Amino acid sequence: MDSDGVNLAPHVLIFPVPIQGHVNTMLRLAELLCLSGLDVTFLISEFNHNRLLKHSTVASRFAKYPGFRFQTVSDGLPDDHPRAGEGFVDILPALLRVTAPLFKKMMTETNFFASASQRPVSCIIADGVMNFAIDFAIENGISILYFRTTSSASFWACFRMTELTEAGELPIKGEGMDLPVKSVPAMEDFLRRRDLPGYCRINDLNDITHQILKRETLQTTRAHGLILNTFEDLEGPVLSQIRKHCPRLYAIGPNHYHLQTRMEAKHTETTTSGASASFWEEDRKCLVWLDSQPEKSVIYVSFGSITVVTRDQLLELWYGLVNSGQRFLWVIRPDSIMGKDGKSEIPAELEAGTREKGYMVGWAPQQEVLNHPAVGGFLTHSGWNSTLESIVAGVPMLCWPYFADQFINSRFVSEVWKIGLDMKDTCDRLIVEKMVRDLMDVRREEFLPRIDRMRNLAKKAVSEGGSSYNDFEDLVDFIRSTAV
Ligand code: UDP
Repeated sequence: MDSDGVNLAPHVLIFPVPIQGHVNTMLRLAELLCLSGLDVTFLISEFNHNRLLKHSTVASRFAKYPGFRFQTVSDGLPDDHPRAGEGFVDILPALLRVTAPLFKKMMTETNFFASASQRPVSCIIADGVMNFAIDFAIENGISILYFRTTSSASFWACFRMTELTEAGELPIKGEGMDLPVKSVPAMEDFLRRRDLPGYCRINDLNDITHQILKRETLQTTRAHGLILNTFEDLEGPVLSQIRKHCPRLYAIGPNHYHLQTRMEAKHTETTTSGASASFWEEDRKCLVWLDSQPEKSVIYVSFGSITVVTRDQLLELWYGLVNSGQRFLWVIRPDSIMGKDGKSEIPAELEAGTREKGYMVGWAPQQEVLNHPAVGGFLTHSGWNSTLESIVAGVPMLCWPYFADQFINSRFVSEVWKIGLDMKDTCDRLIVEKMVRDLMDVRREEFLPRIDRMRNLAKKAVSEGGSSYNDFEDLVDFIRSTAV
């Protein structure tokens, strides 16, 4: 090893927002980069690092990469602060207020995480809402890439917030929800105001989350490049628009599938569970339950890591599922029901219906569930990871978006890709019952060929010579070029 560091690998710092979906996506990128021979320091909140060590296989998974390190930093919130539902909105302000100065201090004091065996970091890959990381990188003459972990469609709509406001399409007023949106190029034909990202659903443009997201998104052009977890055949027209503003764009997704494909090519051990990075303990007994169910008979129900439901919504969804007569596997996180008595006094018919055809868990090994032969549909909140995981597994979706990019993702599922149904802004047991039947039975044949095609296109994208494969190679070249 050269004492000047000349023969050491380039060293990149990856810094996600402390949220399950973002950490999942960025850890997969970290592993892809490790496979390509780069050194990676992964800066994660102490709170989430503890959860990962307790509930996931991440520590052993990364032990095989000597150039990989976790470093921890405070997320600025007390451990008992809720991070789902309403508590979620505090995450970003705390990150900007508390974590940002800590990050700068750590970088400076450690000489950019240099050690005897590692070069200083020459490239930062920051979650795409961390303006402070761009400032730091530019001030210190190192490279910075933004990684926006949502759909490109959501990023692009957010990027257009100024034009949306100037055109009077924002703020969205209650009665205008179904009006078409004309200020987001590439989406004029199908986007309604209710499909815009959740932080557009405001009465006051001074809303703090709206302001932060708008400001941070517009800063993207200051970064040296933009990474997106998508692929050309999925969001091509939107990517073309974004490229006009961010020419160095790497569309490397679906990155869970990309990782799986590259690991297989290297004959590294891999299963769909290999990449699990859960903050909650996965209940694997549900896989045993699935083993005893007929093929494609089960609808998997999960609303991700942040959604919370009221007791009324819980009951409407539950009645709808039971009355549909379909088998269901439902993830109900311990912190996902508003109010203390969320699960108390459950009507007897729901208990009976669940005993007969349902199974509930606190957290599931989602990728394995979606790829299980018994699963035929996904009632989802349309989180971006869930959407991509469902596409790759070839499972049509019934979308019930909760917030953020989920409103626009669900519109793409139903109106652009036509691989499922959108149930946004309703929660009525009769509608749930009908739409579950439509997804699993009545309209099933409409969705299957399209999602199959999309899944094949995803496979092509991450295979050697495919668009995501090539973009990832370019990304590695760029990172290498920062370390000369
Ligand atoms: N997930 C999981 N088990 C569950 C529910 C979700 O492993 O029971 C994973 C899922 O596979 C996905 C992530 O958690 O990778 C959720 O990310 P997504 O972007 O879909 O939604 P978010 O949680 O950010 O709203």
